[in-house]
Amino acid sequence: MSQASQTVFTLNPAQYVKAVDQLRKGFIAQFTKVIKADFKAEQNKLFKTATSNTVEGKADQIINNVDRFYDPTIVYERMYVAVYPVLAEREFDKLLPSKNMGRGFERKGSAEQVAEWERAALQFVADDLGSMITAVEAFSHDVVVRHTRAIAEKAVKQGWGTGKFASALRADLDTLDLMRSIRIARTEILTAASVGTHAGAVSTGLKLSKTWLTVPGNGGDRHGEDIAYSGLNNQTVGRDELFTLTAGITAQTPHDISLPGSERINCVCSHLYTPI
Ligand SMILES: [Zn+2]
Repeated sequence: MSQASQTVFTLNPAQYVKAVDQLRKGFIAQFTKVIKADFKAEQNKLFKTATSNTVEGKADQIINNVDRFYDPTIVYERMYVAVYPVLAEREFDKLLPSKNMGRGFERKGSAEQVAEWERAALQFVADDLGSMITAVEAFSHDVVVRHTRAIAEKAVKQGWGTGKFASALRADLDTLDLMRSIRIARTEILTAASVGTHAGAVSTGLKLSKTWLTVPGNGGDRHGEDIAYSGLNNQTVGRDELFTLTAGITAQTPHDISLPGSERINCVCSHLYTPI
């Protein structure tokens, strides 16, 4: 164990942030597409069951069915099972390098270890699905209902037929769904990456400290720019201790599910473990 820790990779924090960010960006691009396709399938089912030949009737059918066709659990599970074990293995391998381990998206760790991380990822979704959905509720089905009502009202005023109403609503929902897909993929991939990284560090059994890394000036991440978080960048605590973001707000890792949505959404911070 002590020999292994002498061969720990010495990535500087800037390189580390860049490497983690690249990996996370790849997953975000992949899952934005997956979620968008799920929303499109949901939309198709919604319109297929809205058979009324009046605009108001069609709008009511869509509104009544909006919660029926889509179960977000599956996509959340897919995201966490894809991302969590990869980041866990990457952190594990960084701290205890081995020729057998994977790089990037590969998973070459022992089957038992990978299976354990996959189970932990599923358990995480099972425990925290409610918080995940709450964090992105501005993009929930309630918003679809509001958009449907607004466009139906416009359609009635303008005297549109059901065909014109349906195409206007579909175009509007496509834009909305793209934003929802990006928001959900970003928030949850980054969370899965942070909790997976922590799980990988814990799996080494090593005595570790961890350091929070903000990304100053990057895409408006509040933690890098706001004076209220000035003590956060490079803050170092024990492996299982909590970081202090600002007065009264603490977290195990960036994107911690216990944080308010505002501290999770649009946060691109990362964190780094170091043997002590
Ligand atoms: Zn941040």
